[in-house]
Amino acid sequence: MSQKILVTGNLPAEVMDPLRKKYEVEAHAEDRPMERQQLLSRIGDRDGLLCMITDAVDEELLGRAPRLKMIANMGVGYNHIDIAAATRRGIPVSNTPGVLTDATADLAFTLILAVARRVVEGDRRVREGKFKLWAPFLFLGREVSGKTLGIVGFGRIGRAVARRAAGFGMRVLYHNRSRLTPAEERESPAEYADLNTLLAQADFVSLHVPLSGETRHLIGAAELSRMKPTAYLINTARGPVVDEVALLATLQRGMIAGAGLDVYENEPALTPGLADLPNVVLLPHVGSATLETRTAMAAMAARNLIAGLDGQRPPNLVNPEVLPAAR
Ligand code: NAP
Repeated sequence: MSQKILVTGNLPAEVMDPLRKKYEVEAHAEDRPMERQQLLSRIGDRDGLLCMITDAVDEELLGRAPRLKMIANMGVGYNHIDIAAATRRGIPVSNTPGVLTDATADLAFTLILAVARRVVEGDRRVREGKFKLWAPFLFLGREVSGKTLGIVGFGRIGRAVARRAAGFGMRVLYHNRSRLTPAEERESPAEYADLNTLLAQADFVSLHVPLSGETRHLIGAAELSRMKPTAYLINTARGPVVDEVALLATLQRGMIAGAGLDVYENEPALTPGLADLPNVVLLPHVGSATLETRTAMAAMAARNLIAGLDGQRPPNLVNPEVLPAAR
């Protein structure tokens, strides 16, 4: 009897067809997150779950999934999965690191340029027929080239952003829990700074930490108050890394110059008032949203799912403690 899987996103045929050949597949064929009740009611007899970052994979869900043997997440961030609960049940969990690094770093840089050069405001002005004249000191933004970029979370995406910044002649500061070795630092385009120094010196602060108990509200009122009044905050990590109410108050008081956001604290809801600010660029969580990258993520998630259900070590396992040492 073939194994049964649940796929909670609408994925391309090139990824789904091989899965359909191998498993009894139930798939969510709509371009919106699967409803919680649907997820809870469909998980009961499933051996494998290929889930999206919008699915809460928690105690309640796992409690209803007695046959579940593998959880493959389509995304690098897995803060929506209760890893400890999955591990207690002996269920391997995988993610999709690396394949989305460049797309997400590109988007962080898009936000840097868009907010500093007022790209969205400018587009709106032209469309509204308000582009009437060129004047030397009209509609000015801020220079990006040669400025200081502070990267918080110097992993795959943070480092890819630093590589892009080098092309703009920027000075790059990084903050991470673990510092590079002296040899790595000599090779790196970025210098280490503690968080307070980074916040005080950077013209652009770009966030690239995973969401965890430690990083929730890593950037709150106190941290925002350390930034320069001419600096911009860029968040393509996870919304709750920033205290959004504090960010709104900081922006409303003109204590920083602006923000570029791809993610929100209570996604998809925005803190009321945020969307009224002209110096904020808002994107709908599209960090990895290119055809090439999303296809690669879906294929990687499928490979992880297949390996786990075949009793092999999934290539991108995030809870290795779940497997016997030899596997
Ligand atoms: P990664 O390679 O694991 O990098 C994360 C970095 O953050 C690591 O260097 C880690 O280093 C550091 N870090 C962790 N906790 C920290 C803390 N408390 N303080 C300072 N640094 C800390 O992950 P990645 O592939 O770059 O992805 C980063 C995150 O981006 C993902 O987790 C995901 O949430 C987000 N993301 C968003 C989108 C989007 O669509 N907007 C797309 C892709 C990814 P140490 O552990 O050594 O400190």
